[in-house]
Amino acid sequence: MSSSNVKKYKGLLEKKRDELLAAAPVRTPAAEPGSKSGDWIDQSSQESDLHVRLALKQTDSKLLRAIEEAIHRIEQGTYGICMECDNHIAPARLEAVPWTRVCIDCKVKQRG
Ligand SMILES: [Zn+2]
Repeated sequence: MSSSNVKKYKGLLEKKRDELLAAAPVRTPAAEPGSKSGDWIDQSSQESDLHVRLALKQTDSKLLRAIEEAIHRIEQGTYGICMECDNHIAPARLEAVPWTRVCIDCKVKQRG
């Protein structure tokens, strides 16, 4: 893969990563001792809403992990190669899903 293409995909990945991070709830890096944990109890009444948000967060964190792995593969020089069959992943697929690990053939096989 040419370095200009790699740069393009890295840009796509970093943009998506930034979007996810921007959408993520603001969190403090570490729990502070003696913080007001009691505040959480008041929010338990909104349980169904909380479930939705947790589900969303889980999906986002999986995606975020996939994106970070893809950026890592760019740095390793293995980006764009299917992890299942070692074939090159089609550019159209990389543009649609830049964080993908496998080519379309292997993806179809995974689905059975
Ligand atoms: Zn494959």
